[in-house]
Amino acid sequence: MGTVETFIDYLNNSSKVVFFGGAGVSTESGIPDFRSKDGLYNQHDIRFDQYRPEYLLSHSCLVDHPEVYFEFHRQKMDTRNIDPNDAHKYLAKLEEAGKLTAIVTQNIDGLHQKAGSKKVYEIHGSALRNYCSKCGKTYPEDYIFENKDSIPKCSCGGTIRPDITLYEEGLPEDAVRGAISAIASADMLIIGGTSLTVYPAASYIDYFRGKYLVIINQSPLNIKTDSNTLVVSERIGDFFRQVAKEEGVEL
Ligand SMILES: [Zn+2]
Repeated sequence: MGTVETFIDYLNNSSKVVFFGGAGVSTESGIPDFRSKDGLYNQHDIRFDQYRPEYLLSHSCLVDHPEVYFEFHRQKMDTRNIDPNDAHKYLAKLEEAGKLTAIVTQNIDGLHQKAGSKKVYEIHGSALRNYCSKCGKTYPEDYIFENKDSIPKCSCGGTIRPDITLYEEGLPEDAVRGAISAIASADMLIIGGTSLTVYPAASYIDYFRGKYLVIINQSPLNIKTDSNTLVVSERIGDFFRQVAKEEGVEL
């Protein structure tokens, strides 16, 4: 059996499918993977050159150099005009069909929801949500991107920040709990577009006790496989497009 046929066979024998995804899911929509060779970390923007990329995504930067933090956020994290690709669309269809119970994503771009997915655990938060770091009041998704002030301030005087997990910060507890519970009760887990090198996120797949494991990533992963593991080394959007075509699902 080819990879597409095997994938469909796994699907037909499963009722609780969970997808765990990373940056590779969004790169096909044109969002750079900031850990890849030509991603954000290697872009040389004169203004940011003096800072390590990790610093620009850190809690320290937000607190100690907020004007730099927000300039970086506005330039690099604004994905409002980016469209979901066939990977996002196929996963939304899989949920609609009652097969997929949850998506666990390390991405902060909201593209799964844009494609129509409902149950999405964003374990690194979302750049499309903002809140006041002092009083907790929430602000609409355009607020920081459209704000003319270099440091967006709440009426209470606190700094308004994106609801994303920065370096030095803990992961959102509700999302993590939901993600782990979904993975633990899944009978099929699809890991896609992630090199599983970002912790603790990557460790959540250890909770999987189901039968079928599918890994879709262009480079090989260091993960234990058995006879019920399918490894697909293609671009994830391309693979799901083939699966959808084979299943007669319109994306
Ligand atoms: Zn406030």
